[in-house]
Amino acid sequence: MEKKKILVLGGGFGGVFAAKSLEKLGRDKVEVELVNGNNYFVFQPLLPEVAASSIHSADAVVPLRQLLRRIQVRQAEVMGIDFEKKNVIVVQGARRVPIDLPYDELIIALGTGVDLDRFPGLPEHALTMKDLADAHRLRTHVIGCLETADVTDEPDVKRQLLSFVVVGGGFSGVETIAEMRELVTRALRYYPNIEDGDVRMTLIEYADRILPTFPADLAAYATRRLRMSGIDVLTGIGTKSATGTAVELTNGTIIPTSTIVATIGNGPHRLVATLGLDLHWARIKTDRYMRVPGHEGVWALGDAALIPLVEDPGENPADYATQTAQFAVREGQQLAANIIANLDGKALKPFAYTSKGSLASLGMSKAVADVYGIKLSGTLAWLLWRGFYLSFLPGFTSKLRVGVNWLVNSVMPPNIVQIQSTPPATRYNHYRKGDRVFEPGMLIDGFYTVIKGRFRLTIDNPETGEHFEKVFGPGEHFGERVLLRSALRTGLVVAQEEGVLLFIAQKDFTRFARAFPFLDNYFKDYIDRTFGGADKAFAPGSTNHKAELERLP
Ligand SMILES: Cc1cc2nc3c(=O)[nH]c(=O)nc-3n(C[C@H](O)[C@H](O)[C@H](O)COP(=O)(O)OP(=O)(O)OC[C@H]3O[C@@H](n4cnc5c(N)ncnc54)[C@H](O)[C@@H]3O)c2cc1C
Repeated sequence: MEKKKILVLGGGFGGVFAAKSLEKLGRDKVEVELVNGNNYFVFQPLLPEVAASSIHSADAVVPLRQLLRRIQVRQAEVMGIDFEKKNVIVVQGARRVPIDLPYDELIIALGTGVDLDRFPGLPEHALTMKDLADAHRLRTHVIGCLETADVTDEPDVKRQLLSFVVVGGGFSGVETIAEMRELVTRALRYYPNIEDGDVRMTLIEYADRILPTFPADLAAYATRRLRMSGIDVLTGIGTKSATGTAVELTNGTIIPTSTIVATIGNGPHRLVATLGLDLHWARIKTDRYMRVPGHEGVWALGDAALIPLVEDPGENPADYATQTAQFAVREGQQLAANIIANLDGKALKPFAYTSKGSLASLGMSKAVADVYGIKLSGTLAWLLWRGFYLSFLPGFTSKLRVGVNWLVNSVMPPNIVQIQSTPPATRYNHYRKGDRVFEPGMLIDGFYTVIKGRFRLTIDNPETGEHFEKVFGPGEHFGERVLLRSALRTGLVVAQEEGVLLFIAQKDFTRFARAFPFLDNYFKDYIDRTFGGADKAFAPGSTNHKAELERLP
């Protein structure tokens, strides 16, 4: 009998456990291939520990090829699905050419996306906590804040750098802030100019309490514990907007900060949102067997799917499987059994599972646990938390690595090596009224185009007393004048109202300008037209910008 081709999209908890079970249950009936963007499986519950340096980033992941020895693993990006032709389109490797992957049965396990669009500025300025790169970025960022805060002479800058805000009081938000607190506390011994009292940590939760999936008394314990370790827990307050220097809350409070982590805003996966499937609460609606209605041979599970637990589900979230690793693993196993039963012409089983409980680490060797109805808090809960996740980690090597990391970290000082990652060369920046984009004396960083709002540029030459002023609106740009000439800014740009700027880093902008002569001419004319004589007056010692361009790498 010809084997059926089963394609699994996504190598997270849902996809991996579905693929593993399929291989076990239907070895001679099915050929399984798993497609994932990375060549590793991420153990998401350990991400806050990666961010806190307790676990090395490479040890919180497991190579998919090691986990799925008898399954074809393909590292590729899923770009589209043609349900009619039963075909998935992927791109892989450096030759980004679309490739067709035909299937008989398709399993969608792509997880969810992040949607912060309701909060102006949050998509541009908040760090997220979804994958390994996020955890790594947060760790690097926090250490970078400590480095600068230790040496800056400006009290406002220091206050802003030492203020850390996490938005979202679910277990990933709670664990993230608790781990950040632990990292900062343990690292302070290396930063002699920072007192513990200089550090401000804030957890913001819109609901009236944190950890909504835990019993109220455990959530109250967690709140007390976090407060004892110096974290402000603000409940019943939401986030209104954010910039690169502050977050504004729904009660009008403005918290100056350079670090905002958002663990809220579960949105549909970017690709899933375009597939024309029936979505509810940003998840693919399935039947109780995890089939996607109206699409033969298509199944969905994990965070991406909305799987009913009861016959007639309504608007009560309890009618559906929850978005946790615990559920995704059981869904994967049940879905595999259903596919094999379907091929054998046997009856399928509806998905049914009751959560065995929840665990959340509070840092400093404390946790809360609600397991099999038994409630625990403190060190015992923390030991249970560690033991549970160690046992849950797939593969002996990863268990050993994480165990060793924990052991070493408990007796050694924290690792504060900052491995720099470059921010994207082109990005949106959000500003509130009064925010400074740049000011005289700052090193030039890039070129700015106004997307929304108005921005006032003023240039004062203290030597000649000359003054220049211009307001830029949508479609206009600034930053190019000094960019093509001297090394330091001479003007001050202040947001006149809430606005958004598209920023292009200096190196990329100058390379672009150099490659296209029309751009060179455009900026030359533009500078002459806009600044006229002021141009030379405000850029002492400047050379012809063409000559400057000649010297660029
Ligand atoms: C910080 C944090 C802490 C958590 N803690 C816990 C916990 O303590 N307990 C618990 O039970 N749950 C926890 N969870 C939730 C749990 O991790 C998720 O419910 C679970 O990972 C969902 O599994 P999944 O397979 O549906 O999706 P994911 O694990 O998100 O996997 C989706 C996979 O699809 C891949 N992918 C996405 N798009 C593409 C594409 N276009 N092409 C190719 N590949 C793609 C991704 O790279 C990823 O590997 C936590 C989550 C986070 C973020």
